[in-house]
Amino acid sequence: MSDRITAMSDESVFTKIISREIEARIVAENDRIIAFEDIAPQAQCHVLVVPKTTEYATVEELAAGDPVLLAEMVALARPIALERGNGDFRLVFNNGEKAGQTVFHVHMHVLSGPELSEGNIA
Ligand code: AMP
Repeated sequence: MSDRITAMSDESVFTKIISREIEARIVAENDRIIAFEDIAPQAQCHVLVVPKTTEYATVEELAAGDPVLLAEMVALARPIALERGNGDFRLVFNNGEKAGQTVFHVHMHVLSGPELSEGNIA
């Protein structure tokens, strides 16, 4: 789509995790979403929640194109934080290279744990 602010590759690392071409520590999965541990965790709990569709590169595109899917992703945060962190959580979407986005397949960072109260993450 020409009006997208970011180009998205169907062969992103997340696509390869979804297809099991690359291994990941999967913590939750359904027909539309996969969640797995970040390979470089910044907190006790650092999970990436990723829609399986390759249609959206950023959260803005996802919110406009499939807000229900975005809400389904957000709904996974609390159970993930309760199971793997301290129950409270921070959600991060990096949007664009200058904000630190490195994978252009929309994804939500779920962070939880004592590191957050120290205020040194995001
Ligand atoms: P962002 O910088 O917001 O685009 O986030 C991309 C995230 O993907 C980073 O936090 C990376 O540590 C993480 N990441 C990259 N490759 C892998 C992988 N193979 N398995 C799990 N997480 C990964």
